Amino acid sequence: MVLAQLGGSISRALQQMSNATIIDEKVLNDCLNEITRALLQADVQFKLVRDMQTNIKKIVNLDDLAAGHNKRKIIQQAIFNELCKILDPGKPSFTPKKGKTSVVMFVGLQGSGKTTTCTKYAYYHQKKGWKPALVCADTFRAGAFDQLKQNATKAKIPFYGSYTESDPVRIAVEGVERFKKENCDLIIVDTSGRHKQEAALFEEMRQVSEATKPDLVIFVMDSSIGQAAFDQAQAFKQSVAVGAVIVTKMDGHAKGGGALSAVAATKSPVIFIGTGEHMDEFEVFDVKPFVSRLLGMGDWSGFMDKIHEVVPMDQQPELLQKLSEGNFTLRIMYEQFQNILKMGPIGQVFSMLPGFSQELMPKGREKESQAKIKRYMTMMDSMTNEELDSTNPKLMNESRIMRIARGCGRPVRDVMEMLEEYKRLAKIWSKMKGLKIPKKGEMSALSRNMNA
Ligand code: GDP
Repeated sequence: MVLAQLGGSISRALQQMSNATIIDEKVLNDCLNEITRALLQADVQFKLVRDMQTNIKKIVNLDDLAAGHNKRKIIQQAIFNELCKILDPGKPSFTPKKGKTSVVMFVGLQGSGKTTTCTKYAYYHQKKGWKPALVCADTFRAGAFDQLKQNATKAKIPFYGSYTESDPVRIAVEGVERFKKENCDLIIVDTSGRHKQEAALFEEMRQVSEATKPDLVIFVMDSSIGQAAFDQAQAFKQSVAVGAVIVTKMDGHAKGGGALSAVAATKSPVIFIGTGEHMDEFEVFDVKPFVSRLLGMGDWSGFMDKIHEVVPMDQQPELLQKLSEGNFTLRIMYEQFQNILKMGPIGQVFSMLPGFSQELMPKGREKESQAKIKRYMTMMDSMTNEELDSTNPKLMNESRIMRIARGCGRPVRDVMEMLEEYKRLAKIWSKMKGLKIPKKGEMSALSRNMNA
């Protein structure tokens, strides 16, 4: 649930505009003012917000729009494009290649979440079939090695560090050499952070970088600093060749939007965002799906990526085939619930689907939602194969509903509620009908189609 507050305000503004009978200057201005307010509250720089408003007004000339054009769609599209522009650094990041050794060095201030993020990054890649390893070259902070060791052990990722060696360059070089010999394809070097940007920190960063020759330097930054991220990112960029940024703690800070836009303004690509303290509270950051989610339009690419991650490979084609045929049966819903329960933080998964997060998964009530899903699954256990595989909504008549309720020991109204949920999900998933089944890496095209 990234930036729930900002996303909520923007989609509310769009909804209000959609509810208006006629879209005139006033309705458009009200909508833009609402969005402006939300962005400023998220600490997005005033100039960026003002430019966005001007650009939208230029594109959406209500008088010029020929009759018959869908004004709402044009306005929504203009807002979408402008928000993407604010967040797009215009420069892609270097991406390590599986099977070929890459050294990735992490830099950032103390407390930014650097060590936690190193493990999240390693764990993310490990789940995708990489062979990562962690090197702790932070000799400044007492306990840094223990923290990394603990995280790495939990995630079963090999690690290297020392309690006695005080030279970070030496540890970094030894660690990188060792893991190169062990054929690890992603060697992650965690470096020291300090309380503030100071010459000693930047000098140490430069030395570690020179000695290990990283393929990518990732700068980790706490989102709570908002637009001040611009100066911090610039300072780090001037000292070491920062190739990508990870913005952390996006779960707890209203200023996240400001941080993301400020980083984009330094022309550094944000590649991931941290959305919690746990290992899998970590999301790929991609501008278009992110904005799409912010506008309440869902993030199909993120969701499909999750499907690729958790649905067993041999079952993926069948599932996508069924969905593309528009056959969203109760059995598919059951199987998807099973997958969702495996996907890790459930809120993260649901926030990717249009319409899901608010209804089935209200924010802050993840535990209840999980219990609800389990309850639905128990009810479905009392269904016959015919019922689970049917696409005929009329099949579920009163006597069948009563039988299911008796079978699972739940009131009839609970079964009715579950069936209503099924209908709602079937309607959303029916959008998949007729779509080309995407392969990995083709997700943005799918996302564009779904949101069109
Ligand atoms: P470092 O000093 O930069 O290495 O920072 P740490 O990795 O030790 O993290 C500092 C604190 O921030 C720890 O309590 C982490 O659990 C927490 N943290 C890191 N990333 C996130 C995040 O994305 N969300 C939240 N809520 N906490 C985070």
